[in-house]
Amino acid sequence: MRNNQAAKRQETTRRILVIAIFALLLAIIFISIKMIASKSCSNPGQSGMLPTNTPAVSPTPAPTETAAPETDRPSETVLPTVNPETPTPAPVVTPVPTPEQNQYGIPRLMVEGSMNDVLARLEQFKTLPASETLILLDVGHGGFDPGTAGLDTGVTEADINLQISRRLAEDLAAKGYFVFMTRMGEYACADTKKNDMNLRTRIMRLDIFDVSVSIHQNSLGKDDRSAHGVRLYHYKPASAGAKYAKDEKLAKSILEAICAATDENRSHTDTGNLMVCREPHAPAALVECGFLSNSEDEKKLSNPAYQEVFAQAVANGIENFLNGAN
Ligand SMILES: [Zn+2]
Repeated sequence: MRNNQAAKRQETTRRILVIAIFALLLAIIFISIKMIASKSCSNPGQSGMLPTNTPAVSPTPAPTETAAPETDRPSETVLPTVNPETPTPAPVVTPVPTPEQNQYGIPRLMVEGSMNDVLARLEQFKTLPASETLILLDVGHGGFDPGTAGLDTGVTEADINLQISRRLAEDLAAKGYFVFMTRMGEYACADTKKNDMNLRTRIMRLDIFDVSVSIHQNSLGKDDRSAHGVRLYHYKPASAGAKYAKDEKLAKSILEAICAATDENRSHTDTGNLMVCREPHAPAALVECGFLSNSEDEKKLSNPAYQEVFAQAVANGIENFLNGAN
């Protein structure tokens, strides 16, 4: 019996020991797993225990349109936001060549700008070589000087002059000429009419231009509303020389081109001792596009489609003159 009791005690002690060792092993394994787990979370990508080909952080799918509802993602998952202080790299801009670009860096065409722009452009034109064809486009009136006005709609001559001149400038530049406009907006060239005329005269007397064309609209007022159609003026003094023969040629060339493109049928040019015809150093002509005192002309001259046809015709007339076709 004593031996039996002793064997039982021994067996019980052995069992307790085995259980204790087993429990200790379990505790060690559990602590080890916890340590590994906490290391891989707090230090992703740097834990030497992680296999190198295992992504440290599983990528979060980017939102398609708007951020997903907050309940769908754990609160600590924050989508990367753009740091406002990080400068965005400037986009690489490749300059697109425009038709008016050339080796001088002076645009053939410029139809909008202040009077300061006009004067700056004039200085640029003085640097162009004589081999280039420079056209002086004198845009009549402007600002405090509206010129005449349409009797039906009140449209001003200054506005029509600018609209037709801009189209004409585009057509001439498309032919390869450099075009200078005496004004590129709805303003006067100077503070008084006298100063305005003086400035235009000074520009016209420069020897840099190959052709000078002034754009105006006619009017005979309420007394005669029947007069209509284009008039081409040039200067022809009694002792007319080679310069004035060129003026006449230019005027005729423009008139012919207008008659070919529109229903105009005027057969002859007109002469007059007018500043815009007399003063220019280059062959010069004045285009009185039509009569704003005539209802039909007023309607036509205010119509963009007619303005374009008319401007294209004047450009063709200038081109024909320069090419010696007339
Ligand atoms: Zn006028």
